[in-house]
Amino acid sequence: MSKLVIVGSCAFDAIETPFGKTDKILGGAATYIGLSASNFGIDSGVVSVVGEDFPQEHLDLLTEHNVNIDGIEIVKGGKTFFWSGKYHNDMNSRDTLVTELNVLADFDPVVPAAYQNADVVMLGNLHPFVQMRVIEQVKNPKLIVLDTMNFWMDSALEELKQVIAKVDVITINDEEARQLSGEYSLVKAAREIEKMGPKYVVIKKGEHGALLFHDDKMFFAPALPLEEVFDPTGAGDTFAGGFSGYLAKTEDYSFKNMKNAIIYGSNLASFCVEKFGTERMESLDKKEVEERLEQFKKLTQFKIELS
Ligand code: AMP
Repeated sequence: MSKLVIVGSCAFDAIETPFGKTDKILGGAATYIGLSASNFGIDSGVVSVVGEDFPQEHLDLLTEHNVNIDGIEIVKGGKTFFWSGKYHNDMNSRDTLVTELNVLADFDPVVPAAYQNADVVMLGNLHPFVQMRVIEQVKNPKLIVLDTMNFWMDSALEELKQVIAKVDVITINDEEARQLSGEYSLVKAAREIEKMGPKYVVIKKGEHGALLFHDDKMFFAPALPLEEVFDPTGAGDTFAGGFSGYLAKTEDYSFKNMKNAIIYGSNLASFCVEKFGTERMESLDKKEVEERLEQFKKLTQFKIELS
């Protein structure tokens, strides 16, 4: 069975959208990635850190989804990472209100021996130093995927660039691709980012889908138009979990298969946004995932006769 190692934040989130507001609820990049990747029946494990204030039930949730948590360190007396964000009316953009790194500030990750031979490494959002420490501990991975965000571009750009140079795939959103590359056109931005190292660049555009670039090839998948979007938090991570989980499961890391991975990632992300926080991802069943994949197919397939 293929192995996927996931690194990222485990967090408390406080979220405000036009539909409501939450107090501190479960969040974090690794949480969303783990829940999403659990849909592929692979052997996955999370490397992260939490404080003593992190409820056991949040850790149990991952275990119940067959995500190994041996790599999650619990810091005695420490406080868990806290993030708070507020979405604008269109739900496509948000402001970060608070980022309290807490135990993330001096986290030095240890990849459990059982995951050092992972086939796929999914570097979720957290400090590039931590992402680099994970890269150093895995032996001969077949694919390294990196997700990051503007926070780290603003605060640790040089370290982030060193990580970018070492990965095969980078997934970032459109605004961040522009910030990282200095190019407004996403096609030019992707080309600039490819020059930094990754052979594959995935640009997420929220409700407008995702683009995949590789050499001179390009692929676009729309997001499924949904009647109700309550909370986009974690959609990017859920996408990353679906993308990396699918590739780990199929063990085919070609451009052609990455197109499928984009669809699987987008499909899972479409569920994530339907409820606040992780709620929707906690109770997904196989049948509804498959049904929605069919909807995706119908949405995107057409035949045109070219004369
Ligand atoms: P997404 O909506 O997919 O971009 O991810 C949202 C998740 O990322 C939230 O659950 C946050 O806890 C987490 N997050 C936000 N900022 C950071 C950060 N600077 N480092 C790590 N994780 C973060």
